[in-house]
Amino acid sequence: MQNQRMSEPFSTSTAKPAVKPLTGPQKALRKLGLNRAIDLALHLPLRYEDETSLVKLNDVREGDVAQVEGIVTHSEVKLSGHRQLLVTLDDGTGTCLLRFFTFYPSMQKALAAGNRIRVRGEIRGGFAGHTMMHPVVKPAGGELATALTPVYPTVAGLPQPYLRRAVQAGLARAELHDTIPAQYLHEIDIKPLWNMRKALHFLHNPTPDVSLGALQDHSHPAWQRLKAEELLAQQLSQLQSRRARARLRAPRLAGVYHHSHPVPGQMSPNPPDAEIAAPGEVPSLHGRLLATLPFQLTSAQTRVVTEITQDIARAIPMHRLLQGDVGAGKTVVAALAAAVCVDAGWQCALMAPTEILATQHFAKLVGWLHPLGITVAWLTGSQKTKERREMLALIASGQAQLVVGTHALIQDKVQFRQLALAIIDEQHRFGVAQRLALRTKMTADASDATGVEPHLLMMTATPIPRTLAMSYYADLDVSTLDELPPGRTPIITKVVHDTRRDEVILRIADQIAQGRQIYWVCPLIEESEALDLTNATETHAQLSAALPGVMVGLLHSRMPVFEKRAVMGLFTSGQMAVLVSTTVIEVGVDVPNASLMVIEHAERFGLSQLHQLRGRVGRGASASACVLLYSTGDAPRLGETARARLKAMVETGDGFEIARRDLEIRGPGEFMGARQSGDAMLRFADVTEDAHLLDWARRMAPVMLDAHPSLAEQHVQRWLGGKAEFLKA
Ligand code: ADP
Ligand code: MG
Repeated sequence: MQNQRMSEPFSTSTAKPAVKPLTGPQKALRKLGLNRAIDLALHLPLRYEDETSLVKLNDVREGDVAQVEGIVTHSEVKLSGHRQLLVTLDDGTGTCLLRFFTFYPSMQKALAAGNRIRVRGEIRGGFAGHTMMHPVVKPAGGELATALTPVYPTVAGLPQPYLRRAVQAGLARAELHDTIPAQYLHEIDIKPLWNMRKALHFLHNPTPDVSLGALQDHSHPAWQRLKAEELLAQQLSQLQSRRARARLRAPRLAGVYHHSHPVPGQMSPNPPDAEIAAPGEVPSLHGRLLATLPFQLTSAQTRVVTEITQDIARAIPMHRLLQGDVGAGKTVVAALAAAVCVDAGWQCALMAPTEILATQHFAKLVGWLHPLGITVAWLTGSQKTKERREMLALIASGQAQLVVGTHALIQDKVQFRQLALAIIDEQHRFGVAQRLALRTKMTADASDATGVEPHLLMMTATPIPRTLAMSYYADLDVSTLDELPPGRTPIITKVVHDTRRDEVILRIADQIAQGRQIYWVCPLIEESEALDLTNATETHAQLSAALPGVMVGLLHSRMPVFEKRAVMGLFTSGQMAVLVSTTVIEVGVDVPNASLMVIEHAERFGLSQLHQLRGRVGRGASASACVLLYSTGDAPRLGETARARLKAMVETGDGFEIARRDLEIRGPGEFMGARQSGDAMLRFADVTEDAHLLDWARRMAPVMLDAHPSLAEQHVQRWLGGKAEFLKA
């Protein structure tokens, strides 16, 4: 094989022209999604460097990129350890250590003691005061730059000078005509002067007279134009997908009081007016489920169930996001929707991100629905072949009316007879591709693509602040559970330094004596799964030793599934008092008797993750607590953001408030796990700061689509290129 391949270049046959392999920087450009000229032109500077002036060392702070002139007072090659050139620069107000790990004799000469030099680089702290690693070095006294130098977002292997040239080349080649009619821009005060061409050229090559401030804070009109453009592209693409969806068909899941079984594949088995139960008719599954529940729905639950049932009664596929804080009771809402679907004679699928969660859902739903005569199937990756084969048969024949499972649900082999409602729990844990895959499971026969789609209900416990929902989820309908079931006592949260671990263990013993159960969560350290495990195993050993006679379990992601299931079973049944685990229990687990949650190395968790974890307790009527154990490692104190997160946890238990603060701490870029790939991420606009532009874009999108469909399409293509399709999932 190898030989054949090597002889290819000499072949005289009609072989395709040899494709030149991409160079490192070219690959890096691809990785950044910079394929087309326009992509490069829209790759805007992250910030600008000011080489137009010199600063004094006593004015600089860590993190600044500074240009400094001074005299070299010391220069030596350090041979022990890593060979490096160390140079001390003094500018009369302070000194700075320059470090070079690679250097040439010519550099050593230029950096010899006594020379006057100009350096530019990032100021870092260090034992020896200010340090610069590999600064740019020039002789002192040269002319200063007359314009700001753009600095672009980049990745490893793509140096700024290369990227700068690529961007300039892209800018020269790209088609930059305006796609937004000028009259629409009046109302947001963007003058025709700042057309796309002008704005882009300006942002890549700002003229020397402009203030660095207006450029950095994006208040400059050129930035305003680009932000408006970007927001409009996002709104347009979402509106396009919403309209495309409105043209699709879905089974009507209505007439919940009507008990008929449709011919599979036929639409709308129920007459649309069969909403009211005639006297003597069989009560609906939905009604019967309600009657057997051990609790009354909250009014929020009743409201969202109505929103959902109204949606799925229509022949247009529902795309609804159900958001509700942890413990708000989303599962029962899903069960009621499933009941309506099954009652109408169709199949429903519920997909959960983890095996544990799927198991819990399965148990709960079987408990509720089996007594009503509904067949619930079960599908996961760890299933025995025989059981799986049976389940697949049940699903394909349509006998299984509800199917609960993990990602296993979207594998090729799984064929539904007549899927009409797909429910995705903890949807932010799934990727776009996975959601798409579930939607394509509509019919048993893939060739039978009739434009018919299942209804889609996505559930999440990570509430989305309104501005974000408007922006990123404009193509979705959103239902919100803004009320917790009654009788919950608020969870008391305490932040405790790791040195007081023993006190926490005493507290645990006390809780156990009262018959309560405890979660102890150890962090997932992504760089090192091994370390992650050590942490959990050590804690497990420590707690087992400190709590003689108490069953302490251990749960982590690398355990075989049957073991996980056994451990979870012991904890759920109450035999196991303490469960030490990595973050596998993060989502959805429901053990009402657990009343204390200890989170170790809480400083390493994200805010919404902490909130989710805390939501595992406080599910019963008894008082619950959450202890956030933190450690600062070698540092004297916690970092700024870690502190802000822990503070937020103590101050509020409200998921919406947590989400708001999370957004504040992290910025929207990182916030949206949901759109995963980051493709839909706004790069320039900020939904909070640029709310007026977002409002405008929302109003403008339908106007553009109706009045200027071709410009609208060009606009979306320009901004989102090939990505737009993907975003519709
Ligand atoms: P989540 O929204 O986090 O998925 P769950 O669906 O797991 O929440 O519900 C949390 C707990 O609250 C479960 O034990 C569930 O049975 C219970 N629950 C749900 N709705 C109500 C209600 N209206 N009244 C009392 N308990 C409820
Ligand atoms: Mg849940």
